[in-house]
Amino acid sequence: MIQLFIPLNFLGFIYREIREALINIERLFGLLEAPVKVQDLPQAPALQVTGGDVRFEGVCFAYQADRPILHDVSFTIPAGHTLAVVGPSGAGKSTLARLLFRFHDVDQGCIRIDGQDIREVTQQSLRAHIGVVPQDTVLFNDTIGFNISYGRPGATEAEIWEALRLAQLEEFIKRLPQGLETQVGERGLKLSGGEKQRIAIARVLLKNPPVLILDEATASLDTHSERRILDALNLVSQRRTTLAIAHRLSTIVHAEQILVLDQGRIVERGSHQQLLAANGAYARLWAEQQKTADLLPGGGSLSH
Ligand code: ATP
Repeated sequence: MIQLFIPLNFLGFIYREIREALINIERLFGLLEAPVKVQDLPQAPALQVTGGDVRFEGVCFAYQADRPILHDVSFTIPAGHTLAVVGPSGAGKSTLARLLFRFHDVDQGCIRIDGQDIREVTQQSLRAHIGVVPQDTVLFNDTIGFNISYGRPGATEAEIWEALRLAQLEEFIKRLPQGLETQVGERGLKLSGGEKQRIAIARVLLKNPPVLILDEATASLDTHSERRILDALNLVSQRRTTLAIAHRLSTIVHAEQILVLDQGRIVERGSHQQLLAANGAYARLWAEQQKTADLLPGGGSLSH
C-alpha cells in the first residue's frame, strides 16, 4: 500500500510542478524569451500601491544594442484612468507593456508606479499588482474552473461565477453539461478566440489588480463577439489604471488619452476628436482603417 501511495503522491507532485511551470509560461504572455536578466535588488521591498499611478519617464529601450526600439518615451496614466496606445505594426506598442511588466529593464529613464521605480521593488509584488489580458490566452489542459481561478487561488465558487457573469461567459458555461468542471484545452473543449479572451478577462476580474495591461486582439473576431468583448473590457478597466494596446482604432475611440507611437517615438497624443482634428498620423491611420472596414462584410465594426 505504501509502495503504491508514494508513486501516486509523487505523480501528484510532478503534476503540480508542471501546472506551476505552465502558469509561469502564461505569465510571459506570449514571450518565449523569458528574460533572466531582470533581477531583484538585494532586500528589495514589495511594491506599495496606493492608487496605481503609472509613469514612463524618458524611457529608451533596445532588445539588441544596435537596434533601438523606444526613444525617450514619457507619459502618465493617472490612477484609475486609461491610456490607449496606437501605431503601425512594429512601432513598439507591446514593448511598452513588456517593460511595465518588467520582462526587460529600460536602458534609460524609468517606469514608476505610485512613485516607486519598478526596478527597485520585487518582481513578484510588481506582477501581483498587474493584470494582463493578452492577445492570445493560453489555456491549461484542465477545467474551466481551474483556468479561471488560478488568477486567485482560493477564490470561492460564487466569486468565480460573478467573474464569469461580468466577463459575459456565465450563460455559455451554464449551458455546458459539466459547467465549471468542463475540461478545456488540447484534449477538451476547444474555445474560440473570443471565448478564450473572455476567460482571461474573468481571471483578471478575480485577481482584481489595480493596474491592467490590455493587449487587444479583436481583429479576427466577428462583430457580435467583438461587441461582447469590448463591453467586458470596458468593465474590467473601470477604476483600474489601464494601458490598452490597440491594434485597431475602433476599440479606443472613447479612450480619455490616446498616444500615437511611430518607430518607437510618441508622435501625437490627445483624444480621438483632437487627433482627428490635428489631421496627422492618427487621422491617416483612421482613414486607412475606415477603408478596410468598408471591405468587411456589413461594413465592419470600425465605423462609429
Ligand atoms: P504589432 O502591432 O505588430 O503587435 P508593436 O507595435 O506591438 O507591433 P512590438 O512588438 O513592441 O511592436 O515590437 C517593436 C519592435 O521590436 C519590432 O520591430 C520587433 O521586431 C522588435 N522586437 C519585439 N520583440 C523582440 C525581441 N524579443 N527581440 C528582438 N526584437 C524584438
